[in-house]
This record gives sequence, C-alpha cells and structure tokens, in this order.
Amino acid sequence: MAHVIVMSLSLTALYELVFPCHCEACGGLPESGQYRFLCGSCAGRMIWVGEEYCRSCGYPYAGGVGAARRCVKCDELQPVFSAGRSLLLHQGPGGALVRALKYRRALHLREDLARIVRHVSGLADYVASSVLVPVPLYGLRQRERGFNQAQVLAEVIAGSFAGLTVEELLVRVRATSTQTRLTREDRQANVKKSFCHEGQCSRRKVS
Ligand SMILES: [Zn+2]
Ligand SMILES: [Zn+2]
Repeated sequence: MAHVIVMSLSLTALYELVFPCHCEACGGLPESGQYRFLCGSCAGRMIWVGEEYCRSCGYPYAGGVGAARRCVKCDELQPVFSAGRSLLLHQGPGGALVRALKYRRALHLREDLARIVRHVSGLADYVASSVLVPVPLYGLRQRERGFNQAQVLAEVIAGSFAGLTVEELLVRVRATSTQTRLTREDRQANVKKSFCHEGQCSRRKVS
C-alpha cells in the first residue's frame, strides 16, 4: 500500500536544507544569535535609526539636536513629501541585507527583515493604520528579477504589525535606467513622469 507523506517546509527551511546557514554580510556562521542569516558581530554593527531623525527624510541625527528638526539637506531641497522614516543606514551589514534581497534574490531573508522591522523603536506607531504602496518596477525588469523588492519589504512591514494593508496603487509607465550611479539631479530627471496612479494612468502622470 502506497503512503503519501505530506511535507510542510517554509521557504526559509527549504533554503537552509540546500544551502547551510551563513551570514549575508560576512559569510560566517550565524551561530545561535537573533537572526538566521546575520551573525552576532554583524548584527551589532548595524546602524539603527532611533528616536532622533529628520522628520522629512528619516536620516538619523548623531544625537541631542531635537527629534522634530529637519536636516540641513531637507531645508535645502524642500522635498515634496511631508514625512519619512528610516530603519537602518544602508551601510555595512544593513546595506548587505538590502543588496542580497535586491540583487541576489535572497527572499529567505524575509523572517530576519521582519525581526528588524519589529526591533525599530516607534515604527509601529509611525505606520499605524497605513496603506503601504510599493514603488513598482517596469514590467520587463520585474520579469527579469522575478519579484519587486519594494513589494517584499512592504509585505514584511504589513505582516509585522496589525492593521496595515499593501496596495499596488502606482503603475510604472516607462522604463528608467538604474539610479545607482546617478547624481541627485539626474535621479530626479530619470524618474520624472514614470509613474501614474492605478486607474488614472491615461489622465494624469505622477511626477
Ligand atoms: Zn557576519
Ligand atoms: Zn532630511
């Protein structure tokens, strides 16, 4: 008599079955730390954004300058958005996690990213009852990459706190070149008129 064995493995468990656990930042063994794919040493070197940060762009202050102050760059640039929040600086191990997700399709990092999201002081209040709108990729790039990293991050945040939803309200209407090596002015020109609001794409483009 044949037996049917139903196996239930999470994507992370399946990944660990094929590739032994390693630290995404240094390649070492994560041991039994707080994260599956980040060793204790690298986790300790992440630069967290605490309570004192620029309310416009989210960049952290070194400390002792007042939590409600805007940074010098935002005073100069006058951004069109009213508020921003950062979790980590894109440096060292924090940058390594983001690059692994974006360029090496490291979707097995979702559980660690959720731990990071839940660790950030004040983030639950900041995003309470929000609708999270991931920045879309152009169709061809999404097909090449196989996923949208902004969508993954939005889903990680939505899954970390109650009352949040993820909605794809933006459509990317033209392909843009990579922003990585562009100046600030070139980045702005590169994405101008690249998005429209879902359902209104033929009437108005969001610049
Ligand atoms: Zn490490
Ligand atoms: Zn700022």
